[in-house]
Amino acid sequence: MGKVGFGMTAGIAAVTCTVAAAVVGRRIRSRRDWRRAVEVVRELEAACGTSVNRLRQVVDAMAVEMHAGLASEGGSKLKMLLTFVDKLPNGSEKGIFYALDIGGTNFRVIRVHLGGRRSGILRHNVERNSIPQHLMTSTSEELFDFIAMSLKQFVDREEEKTSEPSLVSRRELGVTFPFPVKQRCVSSGILMKWTKGFSVADMIGKDVSESLQQSMIKKDLGSMRVAALVNDTVGTLAVGHYNDEDTVAAVIIGTGTNACYLERADAIIKSQGLLMASGGMVVNMEWGDFWSSHLPRTRYDIDLDAESPSPNDQVFEKMISGMYLGDIVRRVVLRISQESGIFGSASSRLSTPFILGTPLMATMHQDDTPDLREVAAILNDVLGIADVSLKARKLIVNICDIITHRAARLVAAGIVGILKKIGRDGSSGVAGGRAKGGGGASSSGGGKSRTVVAIEGSLYTNYTLFREYLNDAVAEILGKEFSPFVILKVTEDGSGIGAALLAASHSPNSADM
Ligand code: ADP
Ligand code: MG
Repeated sequence: MGKVGFGMTAGIAAVTCTVAAAVVGRRIRSRRDWRRAVEVVRELEAACGTSVNRLRQVVDAMAVEMHAGLASEGGSKLKMLLTFVDKLPNGSEKGIFYALDIGGTNFRVIRVHLGGRRSGILRHNVERNSIPQHLMTSTSEELFDFIAMSLKQFVDREEEKTSEPSLVSRRELGVTFPFPVKQRCVSSGILMKWTKGFSVADMIGKDVSESLQQSMIKKDLGSMRVAALVNDTVGTLAVGHYNDEDTVAAVIIGTGTNACYLERADAIIKSQGLLMASGGMVVNMEWGDFWSSHLPRTRYDIDLDAESPSPNDQVFEKMISGMYLGDIVRRVVLRISQESGIFGSASSRLSTPFILGTPLMATMHQDDTPDLREVAAILNDVLGIADVSLKARKLIVNICDIITHRAARLVAAGIVGILKKIGRDGSSGVAGGRAKGGGGASSSGGGKSRTVVAIEGSLYTNYTLFREYLNDAVAEILGKEFSPFVILKVTEDGSGIGAALLAASHSPNSADM
């Protein structure tokens, strides 16, 4: 009995020991996993550091690259494209104008009735059309024929509805074209390259307005003239300036990112030898391609870039814009899941590029439920990671925060870089003076002129924390003395209406003096 008893006791003890060892082993492993996961996040945080000193280096680099890009073609990764827009709308424009807003996947046709004498936009009608997928890779003729046909149908419908055609002897059209274009004048320019999934090969090197105009003639729209061909940022600046004449720059932060600004005439004449009558010209920076050794790049950014269809291209954009932020987060989570067990066994979905979109990332980041229910749901439904502890959910929120914080602060540094270039950041004694349609070069105030930057794009308008981080960083970089003079203004739907406004401000028919 005693023996049996001893045997049983020993057996129970052995089982208990094994269980205990397993529990201890699991605890040690889980502690090790945690330590590793936290280490990865701390490492990320350090690599994404955007101290105000670091941001000031980015500000300086942006201003230097702007100079270099203006000074010579290919002098910088910033293309600094001259737009020939030397008259920004100011409210005096009058008449009926049309616009075509060609976007990434959609295009919109717009009709705007301008009242003149600052009475503003009396009316505008918009029709949204999608660009059939096959036309994005077809021929320029097919693409523009399709657009011209939609435009013709819209014009007919509108003019039937309003019976106003007699007012218009010659219809004028502004076109927003969000690809890099080498302008010949405000109304025409040559396509340099496609982006956003377009690749209509026979269009590169061709004049965009001419191609469109030919299709318009074919579709019986010969009486309509392309009066302005502009980048979407330039359209945004036009609307910003129409609403507030102190607007000197525009930034888009959506799927991609870009900026433009009003450059002083002397800076352009000096660098490009151009003869210009008026006060200044809008420059399309194509800033998504900005690069500087001061950018806090991480291994995740480097991998994302290397695996993209365009390595070494648009490095700034790949750290900032809606197309990429979610995927940077996915890459960090993937690494943690490979190097620790905190997300259980790695799901294959986590290895799928771009499976985590930026809107979902924003939802996780801004989840205000006490148990981070939305984080858990997205991890489960999108990334295939189930049963994540609250502690691990918090880590996810932390990762989203690091990536968005960095992106927003880099945009802020870019904006202050522009202000520095035009003497409105308070760092130089040269003030830009008031914008008033031509970027005056008066020199008073040491940067203390009211300065407005128009901002468009869903990342800024829909992602609250992104917007707050950006606004705070601009104020932080500028300091208390100068930040009250700089105003960031949401300018929604700027790109399309802006093209119509620019058609108007460059039209001989719209004077209202
Ligand atoms: P586009 O740049 O194509 O003209 P938008 O300005 O609307 O269009 O920007 C679209 C981008 O904004 C998308 O890439 C998307 O990732 C991002 N986005 C849209 N909504 C949100 C949101 N609520 N939170 C964060 N990002 C968003
Ligand atoms: Mg847009």
